[in-house]
Amino acid sequence: MKRSPDMQRLEETLRSSKIAGGGFLGSDPRPLEEILDADAAELARLGHTQYELADRMRHISSRAEQGLGSWVAVDEIIEAAVTDTRGLMPCPWPHPGTFSKTVVTARNLRTGKTIQWSELNIHLIEMHGFFEGRGSAFRLEPAELADILF
Ligand SMILES: [Zn+2]
Repeated sequence: MKRSPDMQRLEETLRSSKIAGGGFLGSDPRPLEEILDADAAELARLGHTQYELADRMRHISSRAEQGLGSWVAVDEIIEAAVTDTRGLMPCPWPHPGTFSKTVVTARNLRTGKTIQWSELNIHLIEMHGFFEGRGSAFRLEPAELADILF
């Protein structure tokens, strides 16, 4: 399949981004379309949508922010805390608007497993179905995310 110049440009931006240390694609050698398709297929297999995940993450983030750095019980499954790293990041797609770099850590109370994300991760998942490339500092594995959040 012939890829559009836009897709080519976007992949170059994601690979070279200095904003996300190591770029958004990490050491992932796969073309961007393949990364997006593989994660979409994985999500479908798991029975979740990108919107459902983003809603859940946003809910947890807003509760965590009330804790001002302390752990907050979100519900019977999750507790969460924020790490205040000040600053804003633009969407690399690009997209208007900037997103807080504040990192939220969520811990599943049954398994003890934790996962971290920023507001930009929520946007990238919701609007672009993008979980970042393997080896990227903020890659979120759909299966791991779903397992911890639900
Ligand atoms: Zn965007």
